[in-house]
Amino acid sequence: MINVAIDGPSGAGKSSIAKQIASKLGYVYVDTGALYRTVGLAAVRSGFDPKDSGKVVPMLDFIKVELRYVDGEQRVFLNGEDVSEDIRLPEVSMAASGVSAIPEVRAFLFDLQRNIAAESNCLMDGRDIGTVVLPNADVKIFLTASPEVRAERRQKQLKEKGIDEPYENILSDIIKRDYDDSHRETAPLKQAEDAVLVVTDNLDFDGSVQAVIDIIKEKTQARQEQQ
Ligand code: C5P
Repeated sequence: MINVAIDGPSGAGKSSIAKQIASKLGYVYVDTGALYRTVGLAAVRSGFDPKDSGKVVPMLDFIKVELRYVDGEQRVFLNGEDVSEDIRLPEVSMAASGVSAIPEVRAFLFDLQRNIAAESNCLMDGRDIGTVVLPNADVKIFLTASPEVRAERRQKQLKEKGIDEPYENILSDIIKRDYDDSHRETAPLKQAEDAVLVVTDNLDFDGSVQAVIDIIKEKTQARQEQQ
């Protein structure tokens, strides 16, 4: 199986880029952020502070998180309910970041991620895929852009979904989440030593897709030649 790990901060365009590449190459796309968002949503719905491990950890015994693929598109289920839309709400982004700092939450989602990668050629995106989940991935990419560029893109995305959120709020959310994600003790966001860095500030969508495809082709060809 060929496994491609794409890590990077929120709003770098990982999911739209990875989704497009997966469909071009015929790989399965795995959005691991959706899994953390689902646990975050469960905490919000229960009225728990997402950072309160005393509340969140016992909750894990009562929730089932599943990924299913409907017409090639990833859908995420919480106790059998399709929550793929609900997990995109801005308050769930913060909750996801909160629960993701709890080691038991990461352990809870670990096997799910590993099993998918073992079964399929996949592109998996997240924060710790190249460093923790798939340390032996065939290709590792660290995809990023400046916070300002990411905030602009996120605002546009939300607008397309009919959600009007001020730029300043989005930017401060991004800066806060970057800080929390890269300073937490468990699986902090950081570039794997053997990951290729791609900065998309000056690349449009197609340019970013092409840059990543070129890296995947180069790395997988080198691997095939070694065999
Ligand atoms: O990628 P997305 O913005 O959907 O992720 C939501 C949150 O989930 C992130 O801010 C991060 O805290 C967490 N996350 C994580 N590890 C991953 C994917 C996401 O900690 N592999």
